[in-house]
Amino acid sequence: MSPRPAQSRNPIQNRAVAVFGGTFDPVHHGHLRAAAEVSEWLKVSDFRLVPVGSPPHRSQTYASAFHRLAMLELALAPYQDLTVDDREVRRGGTSYMVDTLRSIRQDVGDVPVFLCLGQDAANRLDTWRDWKALFDLAHLVVMTRPDSQSNYPPELDAYISERRVDRTRDLVSTPAGGVRHVEVTQLAISSTHIRAQVAQGHSPRFLLPATVLTYINKHGLYRTSTPSKDKVK
Ligand code: ATP
Repeated sequence: MSPRPAQSRNPIQNRAVAVFGGTFDPVHHGHLRAAAEVSEWLKVSDFRLVPVGSPPHRSQTYASAFHRLAMLELALAPYQDLTVDDREVRRGGTSYMVDTLRSIRQDVGDVPVFLCLGQDAANRLDTWRDWKALFDLAHLVVMTRPDSQSNYPPELDAYISERRVDRTRDLVSTPAGGVRHVEVTQLAISSTHIRAQVAQGHSPRFLLPATVLTYINKHGLYRTSTPSKDKVK
């Protein structure tokens, strides 16, 4: 008899949801490889990339939400286990992760929810709206990122230390509240660098999926370093 696939051994884990938010301006292989590795490691079949509609920390994005969403959909099209969740774009207004997690929690009920973020984003978590509530809504999965060391301000550091777990099974047995740091393949790729390459007339090929680069060229995105004025389209 052939062994059952690992995912069918733990029904609660099977229903777990992973949420990976970002501006994705544009999505690149650093995001995608991290998503692939973490989704495999967590054994979640529902791994969602959530493009921010209107980011609270930046005055503007460089491509509109419409284009960022389209690029993410192109990048993930071949992979059924990684999906785009467009609720922040649909919701309109400034996007706060705490609202996103509340709305996802309402949809999925009492299953484990994992909020995945890179170390650079995690270091600034205490600047996010209602950040302490995030720990009631999800587990935190902090992914290594080149040139980013763990550097938490004191109150956040205390919060994280109290909730840190070293074994994945300690996360999947509860819906929220744990923190796990994970190593992912270090790809020193950033959207900032890709935008700069395009603006300078260089090709960022191989830093991001070819379908996304074709889309960038077709729509003339990132040719200037001016942020997008129209946030919808
Ligand atoms: P920008 O250069 O415009 O700031 P970015 O490349 O950092 O963009 P974001 O969309 O802002 O991309 O990042 C979304 C999330 O992905 C963040 O949690 C960030 O830490 C993580 N991330 C981005 N690039 C990488 C990478 N190369 N490796 C691991 N995590 C990454």
